[in-house]
Amino acid sequence: MFREGSRVNEIWSKADLHIHSNHSDGLARIPEIMEHVQENTDLKVIAITDHNTIEGALFAKSLEEMYDFEVIVGEEISTASGHIIGLFLEHPIPAGLSVTETLGRIADQGGIAIVPHPFSNRGIFGPFGRSVFAATVNELAFQALEVYNSIPYLGWANRVAAKMFTGGQGIAATGGSDAHVLQGVGTGYTVFRGTTAEDLRRSIEALETRAETGRGGLSVALRYARSVRRIRLQHAWNWERCEARD
Ligand SMILES: [Zn+2]
Ligand SMILES: [Zn+2]
Repeated sequence: MFREGSRVNEIWSKADLHIHSNHSDGLARIPEIMEHVQENTDLKVIAITDHNTIEGALFAKSLEEMYDFEVIVGEEISTASGHIIGLFLEHPIPAGLSVTETLGRIADQGGIAIVPHPFSNRGIFGPFGRSVFAATVNELAFQALEVYNSIPYLGWANRVAAKMFTGGQGIAATGGSDAHVLQGVGTGYTVFRGTTAEDLRRSIEALETRAETGRGGLSVALRYARSVRRIRLQHAWNWERCEARD
């Protein structure tokens, strides 16, 4: 039994914990994302994290049994001062609450809170937030900081996040693609111990995850450049959902 356990524990897998579908401002439909992950990636876990809705994530979860990977129901919540990702949610969390209240609602559901793109414009620490980060990191109850986000123009914010993340804060590091197009899925990911969504949760809690970047690079950047208009259009269709403030 012990051997079995220790063997399993030496397996490390990849999870993309930040994916958008057409339920918010992504271009891909949930069934397309599921097929893409199965056929073209080695991800063992994905989190669907649409803006202010878990509708697409629940749909993905309902399809999970057909596939060789697991789905985490997530939401990228627009708080009053930036984005927070909740994972392992059962109920949607409304937009527009304070960061502290939002983190509390995630904790109430037994979820995991990740601060995505922490130093971007939509990040809770903002582009000038390095001092805010230092001051509040110990007070806010989040479990992980997204130190790698694949959106092409976030290179600078990623570097700040990696620099601020020294590993001593008691926070795990995660990576996610923030994919808004199918080809973006898996271009940023979290490496965790084990193979399942529950293994991932334990690995985050044990602070042993790390963020990595996958293939894609220039071709994904070009795909984004070509898709900007369609992403903005999709954002416009779902404007109230994506921009929800109150
Ligand atoms: Zn965001
Ligand atoms: Zn996002």
